[in-house]
Amino acid sequence: MRATNVVTEPELVDGLRQLGLGRASEVIVHSSLSSFGYVDGGAEAVCSALTEVCGTVLMPAGTWDLTGIPAPPGLVRPDNDYWNAEDWPDFDTRLSQATSFRAELPIDRWLGTIPETFRLTCSPFRTEHPLFSYQAVGPAAERLLEAQRPDWPLGPIEAIDGDVLLLGVTHTSNTTIHLAEQHLGRSRFYRYAKSADGLWVELPNIPGASHRFDTIEPVLRSATKEIQIGNARVRRIPKQAVLAATRQLVEADPAALLCTDDPTCRCAAALQQRLAALAE
Ligand SMILES: [Zn+2]
Repeated sequence: MRATNVVTEPELVDGLRQLGLGRASEVIVHSSLSSFGYVDGGAEAVCSALTEVCGTVLMPAGTWDLTGIPAPPGLVRPDNDYWNAEDWPDFDTRLSQATSFRAELPIDRWLGTIPETFRLTCSPFRTEHPLFSYQAVGPAAERLLEAQRPDWPLGPIEAIDGDVLLLGVTHTSNTTIHLAEQHLGRSRFYRYAKSADGLWVELPNIPGASHRFDTIEPVLRSATKEIQIGNARVRRIPKQAVLAATRQLVEADPAALLCTDDPTCRCAAALQQRLAALAE
């Protein structure tokens, strides 16, 4: 790959093929458009390259910023780290200000511009989880998305038979690590969303903090295929390798991939969840 800060769609296609991806591939994509430098054609070129090369492309499509609400006053579950509304009037105000999920809601900006462009240009199927929607295109799209339940948001990643693709992002964006944590009883939080006008819902198994996930990188090095496209590190890691590496680390140390120096971080609650699961 030529060291340049202008990336073209053929370069993206070529790069993805260099990673060994093809029509049989199923990928969960986490991405940062700006990581590439300047992409000729922008996010649309990235989406187009992904769907040209890969068989099935899965992306996050969450709407937390629009649909999320605080926990109701007084609703505190064990080892669930979240904030409560001050009182019922405050809760009712926040509920009225939130939006209930609809298929045409824009995707949270903190997930990057590529997922929203994917939604607008690739006509993906999209799940209806009120906080943690997923979208997918390709032959396995329906199978992956049907694996999501309101109480099991990471079902599509569990169902994928393929790889994690990190486009210029670190493992802090790698939700498959959360899936492995959840299999071990960790990072299973309750969160709250508006479900319809005047109605709210409590949603279990929402993952927590990921800011220490990059410490998994050395463990995954041998399983990772990596190239540079423009300025971006582009990495393909088999999903099963991510699950196995996370399991190995967390089974050896219940606090692995969590911070332990900040008691106010929700990593502390995730650790307590793991310890409670071990005690059962
Ligand atoms: Zn933390």
